[in-house]
Amino acid sequence: MTSAHSKQVLEARALIAKKTPYQEADLIVNWLTDRVGQLGTMARGARKSTRRFTSLEPLHTYAICYAESMQGLASLREARLVTVRSALASNLDAMAVAGQGIRWLRTLLPHKQAEPRAFVVLELLLNALDERGHEGRGFIECELAKMGLDLLKVAGYELQLDACVSCGRPRPVDRSAYVSLARGGVVCRACGGGERLLDAGVFEAIAALTSEATAEDGAVRELVLLIDDAVATHAVV
Ligand SMILES: [Zn+2]
Repeated sequence: MTSAHSKQVLEARALIAKKTPYQEADLIVNWLTDRVGQLGTMARGARKSTRRFTSLEPLHTYAICYAESMQGLASLREARLVTVRSALASNLDAMAVAGQGIRWLRTLLPHKQAEPRAFVVLELLLNALDERGHEGRGFIECELAKMGLDLLKVAGYELQLDACVSCGRPRPVDRSAYVSLARGGVVCRACGGGERLLDAGVFEAIAALTSEATAEDGAVRELVLLIDDAVATHAVV
């Protein structure tokens, strides 16, 4: 006998993180959701009929209905497209950046734990890439850097870059500074410094991201690498 509780159908906004064919006609779909973080689902018959699931493609937002099961994978009942991002899905540079944003989220986001703000941060990146990705690589990489900093913030790992994390002394402007990812930001020499020395241009790029100023491409790329390492430092296991 199945209890009513185990058949409860839940809803979430969701993006596809990974699709894996299973047996003859099924699909295992891993989602990033606003409701439960990462969610693994079994979509029975998804490769035979698109009736219940439309076509399941990454980069678009779906409204999904699913039922929890005791054995791990939830059962996907319905997936309805709510935000289609066609321009993004045909722009290779933007898709690569979207992929990196999705990887960051998967790295930081625990399974079965709601983090709606992280989901919103990812959606904002995807929307920007869809609407303005045609403006080119410079724009695309700035959006990724912005998203990365926001994601670290909502995940509770905001980098403190204006002042030393240890003594609070303001970072001197127009100078390079040491950053420690383990300690969460800038560490002045007197407090031992950090494992990497960041050029003044990188700090200028960070300021430019939130203003109308233009960030220098090389500095933005270095910032993205910093974020990538920061995300790896805080990976959920
Ligand atoms: Zn200090």
